[in-house]
Amino acid sequence: MPTDKSQWTDTLIHLFALASRLEGEGQYNLAKLTRAAADSLCRRETHPLDIPSDTGKLTAEVQQAIEALSHLNVTADLLSAMKRGADFLSQGKLSPITATPHPYVCRGCGHVTLSSPVEPCPTCGAFAETFQKFMPNYWFDALQPEAARERLRQTPLVVEKLIAGLSDDAMNQVPSDGGWAIRNTLSHLRDAQGVLDFRVDLFLKEAHPILESKAVFAWAKNESERPPSPRDIFETYRASRAETLRKLETFAPADWERLGEHEEFGTVTLRQQVSYFAAHEGTHLAQIRALVS
Ligand SMILES: [Zn+2]
Repeated sequence: MPTDKSQWTDTLIHLFALASRLEGEGQYNLAKLTRAAADSLCRRETHPLDIPSDTGKLTAEVQQAIEALSHLNVTADLLSAMKRGADFLSQGKLSPITATPHPYVCRGCGHVTLSSPVEPCPTCGAFAETFQKFMPNYWFDALQPEAARERLRQTPLVVEKLIAGLSDDAMNQVPSDGGWAIRNTLSHLRDAQGVLDFRVDLFLKEAHPILESKAVFAWAKNESERPPSPRDIFETYRASRAETLRKLETFAPADWERLGEHEEFGTVTLRQQVSYFAAHEGTHLAQIRALVS
């Protein structure tokens, strides 16, 4: 935190207030810079904070946040949903959409609701479209179909280049922080690809299929049914990817808008699922790069 905490906080609040006023005056370009400055300030300060990843400690951190928010007049619905999410977290489970719906925040006054608003804001009267919907992450709408297909085609090529010339031992080497070896990241890419391929088939076979929530992240260190060599794991990933791309090539525009019901994320389109998996992979390239260099 900066030396003068109150000056920092005052600046942040002023930036948000200023952005709203600028938007009200139609000065959208200046407003976007103001909002970016506020977001940057927050992320810059939070980036070095070391929140533990251990389930028990992380649950305690969420409970601490709920306690703090309860003294700040934050709506009870939001706090209840956070508590339900914390309960799932404490059991090592992913919280389903039924327990933790998407929140909507009024851009006018900050009023929060956990269902898609149809009426004007009960607090300030702002129209329903004013509310900002908070999605679990940005991957859902990150890539349009053509860009998503291209990304899905490119990523295995990038991975292939990154691991070219590496021995099995080098790829099996667990880093000093105890995190994922390259092998684990390759396994994770392969597992996620398997889920994507399965879901593409499901969207085509069924109307509004149920998409089961998959803790793919947790499988990366599971060695059952893995080929022994990291390079073989990569090859199964690449072969499965080629198969998925072949299927996606055949899609009509309307196929991309087919709907499914995701246990964790609610109603999603096939387009959003493909975007999600394509964008997700990018986050793991940096992980491999860091271990190669
Ligand atoms: Zn409002």
